[in-house]
Amino acid sequence: MRLDVVTIFPEYLEPLRHALLGKAIEQGILTVGVHDLRNWATDVHKSVDDTPYGGGPGMVMKPGVWGPALDDVAAGTAAGRDLTSSLPHVDKPRHDEPADIDRQATRGGDDADLPLLIVPTPAGRPFTQADAQEWSGEDHIVFACGRYEGIDQRVVEDAANRYRVREVSIGDYVLIGGEVAVLVIAEAIVRLIPGVLGNRRSHEEDSFSDGLLEGPSYTKPRHWRGLDVPEVLFSGNHAKVDRWRRDQALLRTRAVRPELLETVELSDVDRKLLEG
Ligand code: SAM
Repeated sequence: MRLDVVTIFPEYLEPLRHALLGKAIEQGILTVGVHDLRNWATDVHKSVDDTPYGGGPGMVMKPGVWGPALDDVAAGTAAGRDLTSSLPHVDKPRHDEPADIDRQATRGGDDADLPLLIVPTPAGRPFTQADAQEWSGEDHIVFACGRYEGIDQRVVEDAANRYRVREVSIGDYVLIGGEVAVLVIAEAIVRLIPGVLGNRRSHEEDSFSDGLLEGPSYTKPRHWRGLDVPEVLFSGNHAKVDRWRRDQALLRTRAVRPELLETVELSDVDRKLLEG
């Protein structure tokens, strides 16, 4: 997969080359290009924003800068720096070693040959785990980081000629800029690319994969500060442990995000637990 990020703060994207993402870069699973939007600014001040039509506070990012930037990134002619991994990970085996690489294409749709353009905005559709799963099969994703009051809307309309465009929000709050949203979205996507997480089961059992939140996890020691690991986890009975985990997921989901239960397929045993 290739990720390209267009931003006025390239240094904000530094975390993309650390830990598992850095390792995915080393392994050739991922390449990341970061492009300074100001490279496409044409005036002496390299300005990328202007006052909003209709008045109001703040500034809006200019179409005359964003348009050519997105044209060049789509065409692969944008000069920018590709991120390298922060540290050599290859000689440091870890439990999350990329292994068993099975890069499968899961692309589909009419214009799947176009790159995907993700535009983070609080006014977008909520980004979900299902999006991350779907987009983990993409070959090329471009991110457009807004700042100020956001990007002139015509940029998004025009980009649809060269991209499949998705405007997405990472939550019901307002950030200063799109860079942090890009880190969130990119990390959620990249960890699902086959081979990036060593153990595929670790994301198959994560929250949201089956529509539920994941229940609690425990490790050694068995007794800690007067608190004990639940007895069932030492039973050696896999069916019993699986049932316990399902019960914990159901109870936590009911307590914290009850609306999620409306779309989950529940067995008779699940129902009995939730009614009890
Ligand atoms: N005027 C915009 C509005 O009210 O919808 C907010 C602009 S915000 C200050 C600047 C930039 O931060 C946005 O263009 C977007 O890139 C990013 N941003 C802020 N909140 C976000 C969120 N919840 N999800 C995704 N991106 C966000």
